[in-house]
Amino acid sequence: MTAPRRVAVVGAGLAAVSTCDALRAQGYDGELVVYSGERGLPYDRPPLSKDVLLGKARRDDVLLRPEQWYDEQRVDLRDGAPVRAVRPYEGGIELGDGSVAVADRVVLATGGTPRALPVPGGDDPAVHLLRTWEDAERLRERLLPGARVAVLGAGLIGAETAAVACALGCRVTLVDPVPVPLAAVVGDDIARALHLQHTAEGIEVITAGVERVERRSAEILVHLAGYDGVVAADTVVAGIGIRPATELAEDAGVRVDNGIVVQAGQRTSHPNVLAVGDVARRDGHRVRHEHWEAAQRDGQAAALGILGRPEPDAGAPWFWSDRHGSRLEAVGTMADAERTVRRGAPDGGALTVFGLCGDRVVAAAAVDRARDVKVARRLVDRRVVVDAERLADESVDLRVLLRSGGAT
Ligand SMILES: Cc1cc2nc3c(=O)[nH]c(=O)nc-3n(C[C@H](O)[C@H](O)[C@H](O)COP(=O)(O)OP(=O)(O)OC[C@H]3O[C@@H](n4cnc5c(N)ncnc54)[C@H](O)[C@@H]3O)c2cc1C
Repeated sequence: MTAPRRVAVVGAGLAAVSTCDALRAQGYDGELVVYSGERGLPYDRPPLSKDVLLGKARRDDVLLRPEQWYDEQRVDLRDGAPVRAVRPYEGGIELGDGSVAVADRVVLATGGTPRALPVPGGDDPAVHLLRTWEDAERLRERLLPGARVAVLGAGLIGAETAAVACALGCRVTLVDPVPVPLAAVVGDDIARALHLQHTAEGIEVITAGVERVERRSAEILVHLAGYDGVVAADTVVAGIGIRPATELAEDAGVRVDNGIVVQAGQRTSHPNVLAVGDVARRDGHRVRHEHWEAAQRDGQAAALGILGRPEPDAGAPWFWSDRHGSRLEAVGTMADAERTVRRGAPDGGALTVFGLCGDRVVAAAAVDRARDVKVARRLVDRRVVVDAERLADESVDLRVLLRSGGAT
């Protein structure tokens, strides 16, 4: 297969930049143009709900690459240049001004947009969402000591935002209809321990759905469903997930089903179009892996796909999340587990939970136990048969289990 002469990347988040990085690392010498819907140099998103909200990081601190990298790598970054359409059969893309840019391959790295609350008033601009640098700046200004902050949704972004607001001295109420959020992702024990942490830190946790949001001059009233009372807040933040930005793919006739469906090498249903990052879903996987490492790996896989080279096995997905000074890490897909095995103390102490299918570990999650997750990752990737009792036994070094389950 001959390498394409011109690759156009749509979007300039982590998946886009990783694609460019990997293409150059693989020796690709052709043209690389990145079209960004945002202004300025591409930045990393995880710090937005952590150090940026805390006021500890500026834009320069969170750039994905320094400015000179784009020159050095001959990556032509066009910022403030949203792509209007992808025309794979005509060999290119259409920009907002109607001009057409020719490309042999188009990589869709368009990420996702936060979902608005699907209730009356849910799309009021007073309800903050958190995805971009501007979102984080706008929200940071509101997180003043004593401010009443209602966070709707206690998933990863909601929980991080609530924890930051709490650390900044806000009076925080965290609302979620699910009593133990994230249980499907990290298992019941870890999810419960994490959720209890909010209460221990002084956050008011309410299990209820949201019925409507009402703006009343300076304050916002959150009316809850099946709950006696209304939450009055100065600032409301919704963290209820994202919708993958699949419009360009749909218009171009590329297969979309809960994300742009991709095969090995991030190839879509069109031979000249690839998709990476939060917008893509691997065929055969139930969920999109909307995490930092997955976006980076997708970029590497896309580079190999563009160059017609085989991609190595990506291994199990992994992510982290920080809240209240603790770090959650999870690997694999807990929803695939038939049963769980605990290692450590469930009541607020250090704990690792393994998800097993038969005698094999398919997932693990832990709080402040990075070493356990590192070994678990190898257990999952190598499909090692393990002895569940030894897995649970704190006196057994987990690394021993890597050798055929550590049979004695
Ligand atoms: C606040 C926050 C905190 C996070 N924390 C963690 C964490 O702790 N751990 C973890 O593992 N993951 C975390 N993540 C997830 C991780 O950051 C994402 O998975 C990753 O950024 C996805 O990268 P992406 O390139 O696919 O998408 P994005 O970063 O969303 O980039 C997509 C880009 O495409 C642009 N675009 C869209 N349409 C067009 C168009 N038509 N033309 C041109 N450009 C377009 C968008 O403007 C955007 O800039 C966090 C995410 C957020 C938002």
